Amino acid sequence: MRYEGNIFRPPSEAYSLIVQVTVGCTHNKCTFCSMYKDKQFHIKQMDEIFCDLEEARAVYKRVERIFLADGDALAFSQDRLVAILDKINELFPECQRVTTYGAPNDVLRKGVDNLRELRQKGLQIIYIGAESGSDKVLKDIIKGATRAQIIEAIRLIEAADIAASVTLISGLAGAHDWEDHAVQSGTLISEAQPSYASLLTLMVEPLAPLYKDIKEGRFDLLAPIDVIKETKLLIENINVENECIFRSNHASNYLSLRGTLPQDKKAMLDQLDRALAGENSLKQESWRRL
Ligand code: SF4
Repeated sequence: MRYEGNIFRPPSEAYSLIVQVTVGCTHNKCTFCSMYKDKQFHIKQMDEIFCDLEEARAVYKRVERIFLADGDALAFSQDRLVAILDKINELFPECQRVTTYGAPNDVLRKGVDNLRELRQKGLQIIYIGAESGSDKVLKDIIKGATRAQIIEAIRLIEAADIAASVTLISGLAGAHDWEDHAVQSGTLISEAQPSYASLLTLMVEPLAPLYKDIKEGRFDLLAPIDVIKETKLLIENINVENECIFRSNHASNYLSLRGTLPQDKKAMLDQLDRALAGENSLKQESWRRL
């Protein structure tokens, strides 16, 4: 397998075969993100991707999960993406799921019919970074998509029978706009009704533009206990009818939560109340990871 640069994948893809089909991120402007700042976005050649898949087939006896990296495999034309999924089906008949990241605008460009075709070819989950439900925060972080576009993209994914796994980031609005960020992020999940919602907690590395703002005092990070308050307000504002698996068990989180909404909402809020009362200890700063 040939990988260009550092490779990122969602935590739930820890045991997946990672196949790099694009390099970098089409947008690459989000102020908090340093993942692909050292890469110029490009699409890999089809013969290179097929060669990687054939090499992996020769090495691994059983491959049940495949994750298509980097930032956004949906930037591929439909024909090429279908050809990649066909090749996966031919070489790995035991593969049970193929997943990828999807930027909101690329999901919208694909449209529901193309997404349905990808689902039929084996694409089962699209990880979509909403980051926030607040238009102000989305503008501040230069997300390149509005709340309305993100909600529409999530609904399209689910309408195509693909599971949408939505990522939000606590602390992303800093100390000033945290209430708006929490309420709007919670109601985004209520309106979009994704199958999965994951909450990470902001950690900013030197390559991210926001790093300089923090160092120069233009952005105040939320204190850990305020992150818990924000998380509580966010969950209070999630009201879903369809089941949504909610997780905040990423290495960056101060408190690990996991439950299925709506039924586990009260249990998760109780866990947060115990943390606010000092009965549940929070992860130490030195143990947090991206
Ligand atoms: S957060 Fe996602 S869309 Fe934004 S720059 Fe990073 S990889 Fe690209």
